[in-house]
Amino acid sequence: MPKEYDFSTRAIHTGQGFDPTTGAVIPPIYQTSTFVQDGVGGFRNGFEYARGANPTRSSLEELIADLEGGKHGFSFASGLAGEDTLLRAILAPGDQVIMSNDVYGGTHRLVNRVFVPWGVQLDTVEMTDLDAVRSSIRPNTKVLWVETPSNPLMKISDIAALVEIGHAAGVLVVVDNTFASPYLQNPLSFGADVVTHSTTKYLGGHSDVLGGAVVMNDDELAEKVGFLQFAVGPVSGPMDAWLTVRGIKTLAVRMERHNSNAQAIAQALVGHPALERVYYPGLPEHPGHELAARQMRGFGGMISVSLRGGAVAARTFAESTEIFQLAESLGGVESLIGYPSEMTHASVKGTALEVPVNIVRLSVGIEGADDLVGDVLAALERVPAN
Ligand SMILES: *Cc1c(COP(=O)(O)O)cnc(C)c1O
Repeated sequence: MPKEYDFSTRAIHTGQGFDPTTGAVIPPIYQTSTFVQDGVGGFRNGFEYARGANPTRSSLEELIADLEGGKHGFSFASGLAGEDTLLRAILAPGDQVIMSNDVYGGTHRLVNRVFVPWGVQLDTVEMTDLDAVRSSIRPNTKVLWVETPSNPLMKISDIAALVEIGHAAGVLVVVDNTFASPYLQNPLSFGADVVTHSTTKYLGGHSDVLGGAVVMNDDELAEKVGFLQFAVGPVSGPMDAWLTVRGIKTLAVRMERHNSNAQAIAQALVGHPALERVYYPGLPEHPGHELAARQMRGFGGMISVSLRGGAVAARTFAESTEIFQLAESLGGVESLIGYPSEMTHASVKGTALEVPVNIVRLSVGIEGADDLVGDVLAALERVPAN
């Protein structure tokens, strides 16, 4: 698909040509583990065994690479499977990784409980404080792991500035772009070396499939990631890859609605007497608002709020909505509400990454804006006055 086509066009067509055998507009799901050979070693179109490559997965990998503006894309069984493969391709014992101090809990757990026992060092830093980042880099630093907007406090980090700091010290900059999706932000265009995704979230978009993606331009790193993906096998199956492709076709229209619904809710919540603060980069008072406006093409569908009434108020709010369902995860068409300190971020309790107990996180879906605003305001009515 030519690069000059609009994102929405590429999201529907890249890697998705019709099936030449039958003319089916939608390419079939290649539910196969192996491929016939015309004589020993005579592979058709390079397909040999599905751990190495499967046409359905390949079409997703081509699509994601295109949408992120990268040369090489890899699709995995989950976001964390992709992160694990990427980090194995880069790190050796003795190397240091720097992550933001509110990185996704599962990413922190992966490095802290799997890579640290293997000899890797982990430091967390306030990624919005460029001086703090600069002074946390050491001779053995290999990776700066950035998440923007961050989870759950929606902090915005300056990708281009972090790339400048990282590259000056020979450090690879990885951006987890799950919260923004490629529709709203393309980290490679700001010089980042690698983009990762939990495609389970906005890319899949329907809370019906797990997946992960890693995209990069560097041929040497891509070769290592491709080798590990083949040697270890944390790949997405054909059905999962196909569902993710189907989700991506509507990413552009879904994100527009996520943006506008979240903006409406955030504005309706500002100044609410039960709330201390509303965390949404689309609000002018958000400390990262101007940076987000420069770096992103919209402010996304994630909002967090802090409640004046502490943990009791926060839990009551999270348990009182009707349309917003209480569940982990995010990025689906349906609205979800979560209580991070006991749910998504329970694994970082007692660490520097602990989330305040009065925070509630909203993944704003694409239902009717008025219904969602009404639901959230009605639930806040039930929060006990402090
Ligand atoms: C969910 C998530 C992950 C992990 O992805 P899985 O698909 O659950 O393995 C990583 N980063 C962020 C920001 C996430 O939200």
